[in-house]
Amino acid sequence: MDLNLAEKVFIVTGGSKGIGEAISRAIIDEGGFVMIASRSEQETRDLVAEFNRDRIKSHCLIGDLQDTLLCKKVIDETIKHFGKIDGLINNAGLNDGASLEAGPVAFRNSLNVNLHHYYDLVHYALPYLKKSKGSIINISSKVALTGQGGTSGYAAAKGAQLGLTREWAADLLPYSIRVNAILPAEVMTPLYRKWLDTFDNPEEKEATIISKIPFEKRMTTSDEIAAMAVFLLSDKSGHTTGQFMIPDGGYVHLDRSLT
Ligand code: NAP
Repeated sequence: MDLNLAEKVFIVTGGSKGIGEAISRAIIDEGGFVMIASRSEQETRDLVAEFNRDRIKSHCLIGDLQDTLLCKKVIDETIKHFGKIDGLINNAGLNDGASLEAGPVAFRNSLNVNLHHYYDLVHYALPYLKKSKGSIINISSKVALTGQGGTSGYAAAKGAQLGLTREWAADLLPYSIRVNAILPAEVMTPLYRKWLDTFDNPEEKEATIISKIPFEKRMTTSDEIAAMAVFLLSDKSGHTTGQFMIPDGGYVHLDRSLT
């Protein structure tokens, strides 16, 4: 299937590690162009250099998206380099464990690192997305549906991303801009590895989690999330908007007696 992404321009936040990296790679594999916005400087510069080996297919902006001015700069730089924006993948975020006990400052910081840039980037990209009838993807989390315990800030941010997905899908109907969310559950990424390593026995914890994933008793791969993302970005999903996609091997929804 040709997804018709060739020469189309997509912004991927956190696009050089984990799920974001897989999405950037999938876009490049489909012949598209990528603007990566991330604070992971080395990984981002290395990936852009790899993508640009034969010709310029990607650019990057290094910095922390908690800074609204940086979000505006991401859009400005994308236009400067590519002249258009065909889609935005809001992906940068982390489960920072800002719990009920952690207090108001930790909670607000968590919203800042996980949520505000999702809004800011769409706000600044809007004129260009209207022109291209672009597509927006919000990477949320199963935590928005299930809770996890000990992570109020992240859960609030991930839930808000689902609210915004529906709100923007409604708001942007007149412009044929589609907005969808992907909710990963258990995907081995640098962030996930770091979280597992906080347990006394990470191998045992990993095995316990995997044993509860119904489909093939394995984690979802970043490539499986990325495949869903490029489909949602493409005009092959031209009538899909306001949807929450949950490629998780049945982790959230299937009968618990199966595991
Ligand atoms: P990851 O491996 O840490 O990659 C995320 C990238 O985004 C990192 O380079 C990170 O930099 C960057 N980043 C985070 N916050 C940023 C900010 N404010 N400004 C600029 N860059 C920022 O994480 P991942 O596991 O791929 O997660 C990607 C998304 O999927 C997140 O929204 C996460 O909540 C969601 N998710 C993941 C899973 C999973 O199982 N992995 C499950 C549910 C949801 P640093 O390394 O410096 O933080």
